[in-house]
Amino acid sequence: MSIQWYPGHMTSAKKKAEEAMEFNDVIIEVLDARIPGSSINPLIESIRSARQRPHLKVLNKADLADSKVTEQWISYFNSQPKINAISLSAKKTSDVKQILLHCEKLAPHRGTNVKPLRMLIMGVPNVGKSTIINALKNKRIAKVGNVPAVTKMQQRIEINNSMILTDTPGMMWPKITNELDGLFLAASHSIGINAYDEIETALALSDTLKEKYPELLVNQYSFKSPIPSDEDFLRHIASSRNFVMKGKKFDLLKAAITFINDYRSGVIGKISLESPSSRKLMLETSNQLKAS
Ligand code: GDP
Repeated sequence: MSIQWYPGHMTSAKKKAEEAMEFNDVIIEVLDARIPGSSINPLIESIRSARQRPHLKVLNKADLADSKVTEQWISYFNSQPKINAISLSAKKTSDVKQILLHCEKLAPHRGTNVKPLRMLIMGVPNVGKSTIINALKNKRIAKVGNVPAVTKMQQRIEINNSMILTDTPGMMWPKITNELDGLFLAASHSIGINAYDEIETALALSDTLKEKYPELLVNQYSFKSPIPSDEDFLRHIASSRNFVMKGKKFDLLKAAITFINDYRSGVIGKISLESPSSRKLMLETSNQLKAS
């Protein structure tokens, strides 16, 4: 079943973002480096392009992603017209500061006391916007949370005399058309817990990791070849961790949650769920299915 999550406060967040676009010079779009395609919010793109504002894509959480694949994404984005992309980990303050240098280049006519550079930061929930803001300001001013949609209001932050940043609530969009996008966003913790099924999400994650990183799965969970599929995959984790319910049945839900959390925290290894080429293939397949 496809995942949909568009809580009420996001409708007003979208309206406020449209208004804010008029008074900002550069849009900073924060993406999750593990899923740079799935974490692109089409609403942000349409609001941004309506106002023709330059934008910087920041692939955050690069410390959790596969660095080779992140490089492919950066080359892919930078080869497209009018797109600038960088990757970083918001946990490294020195990395985060490069955002300001890139924004200055994108709006060279701004950045003085009289005409400060005005930046709007946007992205899906839990992608690391608050952590980036705190690193830019060297202070805890934005609330960081390990649950999606902590920030519900826009916030204006003076970075220094010549730079102003506006923080926006994490935004999703009304209909996620590709099933895999919803599953990747859920696995990567950008979707509210009540909007997805942990077992379904864990199984989609296991399929992708079996295809892309089988050796990491073998290392982490001591699978024997071939790595089992579907519920047998979760049964193996439940059995090895002794997740057993009454009646000696394996607790597959607990195994699914453990597996998802292992991916989220980077315990399994540095993982990218999609590359530019795997995404292209996924979109082609999904379009063919829709057409047939
Ligand atoms: P926001 O909802 O977009 O503002 O995201 P937050 O800044 O609240 O971050 C969500 C979660 O991701 C928090 O648990 C952060 O500690 C974590 N986080 C943010 N950036 C990074 C990063 O670059 N690397 C890692 N490993 N975790 C991050």
